[in-house]
Amino acid sequence: MSTNSAAMTPAYDRNNIFAKILRGEAPCAKVYEDEYALAFKDIYPKAKVHVLAIPKGEYVSLTDFSQSAPPDMISGFWRAVTRVAEQLGVAGGYRIGSNVGPGGGQVVFHFHVHILSGPRQ
Ligand code: 5GP
Repeated sequence: MSTNSAAMTPAYDRNNIFAKILRGEAPCAKVYEDEYALAFKDIYPKAKVHVLAIPKGEYVSLTDFSQSAPPDMISGFWRAVTRVAEQLGVAGGYRIGSNVGPGGGQVVFHFHVHILSGPRQ
């Protein structure tokens, strides 16, 4: 049996809230930005530190990003994630997560990584 995971990735919706934040059409509490990524505080924090890092490109999910993004974007994005942790002063202890698809609890369909540190709230 063959699978086509690309076919399972829905089309990117340019009206999603993180796309609007990237375009400057919606506000965010920015904590980091470089050519590959933007990071900002989660509006409903689930830990003392809860920041979202998003790539500057149209990727629906981690699956889409991994399969579609060019190598410099992939490496640049993950470097940015570690720089966010450094900037937040939590490089010594943090956790990251990414919900993929409705079954994984994803509600915003622009790929993002949750960066959390401290006790869960
Ligand atoms: P996920 O898609 O991984 O389930 O979670 C999306 C995350 O985005 C949630 O933790 C939610 O609190 C956060 N979020 C949703 N809308 C906004 C928004 O407009 N601004 C910010 N900063 N975070 C948001």
